[in-house]
Amino acid sequence: MNVVMIGAGYVGLVSGACFAEFGASVTCVDKQEDRITALQQGKIPIYEPGLDELVRKNAEAGRLSFTTDVAGSVAKADLIFIAVGTPTRRGDGHADLKYVYAAAEEIAVNLQDYTVIVDKSTVPVGTAREVARVIRKTNPDADFDVASNPEFLREGSAISDFMRPDRVVLGVESERAENRLRELYRPLNLIEAPLLITGLESAELIKYAANAFLATKISFINEMSQLCEKTGADVNAVAKGMGMDKRIGNKFLHAGPGYGGSCFPKDTLALNRMAQEYGVGSRIVEAVVEVNASQKARMVSKIREALGGSEADKRIAVLGLTFKPETDDMRDAPALAILPALIDRGATICAHDPEGMEEARPLLPDDVEYAENIEAAVKDADAVVLMTEWNQYRGLNLNELSKAMRGDVFIDLRNVYERGLMERAGLQYTSVGR
Ligand code: NAD
Repeated sequence: MNVVMIGAGYVGLVSGACFAEFGASVTCVDKQEDRITALQQGKIPIYEPGLDELVRKNAEAGRLSFTTDVAGSVAKADLIFIAVGTPTRRGDGHADLKYVYAAAEEIAVNLQDYTVIVDKSTVPVGTAREVARVIRKTNPDADFDVASNPEFLREGSAISDFMRPDRVVLGVESERAENRLRELYRPLNLIEAPLLITGLESAELIKYAANAFLATKISFINEMSQLCEKTGADVNAVAKGMGMDKRIGNKFLHAGPGYGGSCFPKDTLALNRMAQEYGVGSRIVEAVVEVNASQKARMVSKIREALGGSEADKRIAVLGLTFKPETDDMRDAPALAILPALIDRGATICAHDPEGMEEARPLLPDDVEYAENIEAAVKDADAVVLMTEWNQYRGLNLNELSKAMRGDVFIDLRNVYERGLMERAGLQYTSVGR
């Protein structure tokens, strides 16, 4: 089966490599020439554990190739996946679909035999039908179906999420398209991964509803963390007790600095916008967005308070910049809101991140210093802020750290440590909701 992925980013590249691993012949197409040149030379432009090995293996086997040439690849495709970005449109929260429709036009002019065009990007309800309209308008003779196959992989564990999904959602309108997609995903039958077949609209909405629900769990526990701080309860214990109830589940109940990343922030906004456009309420998800913004702001106050009321002239070591561990993705990371606020009030920031510093540099103020390692970051710091719970930061040598610092403040925004341990190392410990 010939598969084309339009867009070789986190989703396109991972899905493309995994489909190749399933045995399909996959071409990943991207507009960014440097990205494609790097991939052709075996260099992976993003950090995703295991991806370099998977790409190398399948490229060597001749099942995975990279090109900027849409025309050549589309002509012989059985299935074409649109996996381009759908960022927030400036001003109104709507998902910006210009990359999706541009891809649809490019696909349309090059279509030959019957092809299934599949939206893998996260797109508002109605987009698949609009993609079909764009294709029909551009190439009235094209023989094609559109389908929606939203992606649920998580950065940092993307390959195993793709290979062992909780479910695969296929929004289709014809048996022919359904059969072709079923054939592609057939290797997942072995592990009995459920395939959910729906209409186009349901598939599109499932993705937004799922992400908004997960974001709701995070904002919920973050709001609880505030109540914990006022009442003396421990949010970790509260989350654990809640999560033991199978109806609730223990995932996505970790209090922290607020959700970030390339999906939850933009998808919650897009869902709210969609609801507005259809004239229905979206009060829960609107609150989720608000709580998330205030949680980030609350982290700034928390750091200030821990520093005795002012961050002016304080040197703060920040451990972790990415929105979560095991990725270099800095899109909408809480650090992007928190660090500039600290700098504005006179703090000096020295940051470390195992994979994200290159991505972070253009997004953070120029005066942020970057340290090569943890030791260099914490040296002479008045305070250490644990921003992202990379494994490297989970077992810090606290006595050494305490000696290297100028001050004694440790602010743990991920609730990784216990107070007793910190106090024994002579550190003043602040965390979230405890
Ligand atoms: P990304 O920005 O990493 O990758 C998108 C790629 O598409 C870029 O490399 C860009 O150059 C390329 N592109 C844009 N227009 C193109 C065109 N016309 N032809 C060829 N290439 C083109 O984005 P991503 O994180 O992979 O996300 C893609 C989609 O998948 C989004 O809708 C996102 O919401 C969704 N999604 C992302 C994740 C995730 O964890 N990143 C998970 C599930 C779903």
